[in-house]
Amino acid sequence: MSLVDSYVNPYTSLTVAKFGGTSVADFTAMSRSAAIILHAPQTRLVLISACSGVTNILVELANGVTDTQQRHALLTRLTDIHQSVLSQLKQPQQADEAITLLLKNVAELAKKAAIEKSVALTDQLVSHGELLSTHLFAQILRELGIKAIRFDIRDVMRTDGQFGKAIPQPSIIRQLSEQHLLPQLKKHVVVSQGFIGSDEQGNTTTLGRGGSDYSAALMAEAIGASTLEIWTDVPGMYTTDPRIATKAKPIKEISFSEASEMANFGAKILHPSTLVPAIRQQIPVFIGSSKAPEQGGTWIRETVSDAPLFRALALRCNQTMVTLTSLNMFHAYGFLAEVFRILAEHKISVDLITTSEVSVSLTLDQTDTSGGAPTLPAQALAELSELCRVEVEQDLCLVALIGNQMSSTKGSAKTVFSTLEYYNLRMICYGASPHNLCFLVKAQDAKSAIKDLHCAIFE
Ligand code: ASP
Ligand code: MG
Repeated sequence: MSLVDSYVNPYTSLTVAKFGGTSVADFTAMSRSAAIILHAPQTRLVLISACSGVTNILVELANGVTDTQQRHALLTRLTDIHQSVLSQLKQPQQADEAITLLLKNVAELAKKAAIEKSVALTDQLVSHGELLSTHLFAQILRELGIKAIRFDIRDVMRTDGQFGKAIPQPSIIRQLSEQHLLPQLKKHVVVSQGFIGSDEQGNTTTLGRGGSDYSAALMAEAIGASTLEIWTDVPGMYTTDPRIATKAKPIKEISFSEASEMANFGAKILHPSTLVPAIRQQIPVFIGSSKAPEQGGTWIRETVSDAPLFRALALRCNQTMVTLTSLNMFHAYGFLAEVFRILAEHKISVDLITTSEVSVSLTLDQTDTSGGAPTLPAQALAELSELCRVEVEQDLCLVALIGNQMSSTKGSAKTVFSTLEYYNLRMICYGASPHNLCFLVKAQDAKSAIKDLHCAIFE
């Protein structure tokens, strides 16, 4: 029996809790989050993000700020954010030295990046957000009387060496966690970093923006946790973004399949990969607001008591649509294979696909850490252009209706298309998944399309 099994069974069930940037934004937010941990003794592993806004500043520095004054202004903002928390601690000296050292590292790395930036340097630099916040948060927990220690997740979060979007290696993470982390969890509440990891050579890597959720799920898997909690600034998932449709309703319970579709199709509440480890290990996931834990939140699990035809609407903007047209496609074979060979060679991930007899349209996956519309690399465009006519369109948003048995329920498409009869819908994808119907609309129409649909379906 491995240490994981013997630990989880039979005395206690372990919870991994993740707190996002807004939940650790400042002293007040950190204290609220700490109170949640205080009242949940089963929470032994806590992963946190950088304080809100910090990663953005670090990314800016990593992109190379050559103007010394501007660089110093950014560094001062970083110092202020962390100093403000430090100054409110009862025993700031417990974290002071570490914070000062890390901020000094940031200044040095930012200077380096201004001379020559690199993806490895970027990861090294941006990892400091989480390295800093964990020192402060662990101390806040200790000041509440919790036996907490700070742990460097890079000792266990093994990834490959793709800086900026490193791929985690679950079986090694599990082995390393059994060795280094589980013994600590028996004695302490462990506070550690989301988002960051390290490759085989010990270089710091990151899992991509918003990756802390994914880190938490990977760690829940690695230590055999029975629950994963994601604490953020909204009380769970809603039928759509309440900022777009004010009558959006909270979702109390949702299945893994539906929630995966939502995370993939733009509900920003979860990093899209988060549910992969949770599904692998059947770990229920709770999403709640650290500002209002009493409001409850959303439970995501394998089986749910209610599986409505329509569950929610998600919106993802900044879509890039590529249309490839070739007369050779007519009754021919191998054209799509060739297209996808080129895309694969350039490591371009495709999202939606629709086809006609002579053309295929696809959207590019959002992998750009800046959140902008993905672009087709010049070399890939050149190779595709040799094969067929290539058109690239942007300023498009993806609207996804998530639900259950939609492809086998008569009339479910009718509601959508009759409500949106005056919109120009592109790339309609329906039927491949029972959980999803989606299409593109012009960016300027996206919000009103969501509002109209929400009104017709959910209000
Ligand atoms: N701090 C990182 C970011 O802002 C990771 C995270 O918060 O999930 O992207
Ligand atoms: Mg997040």
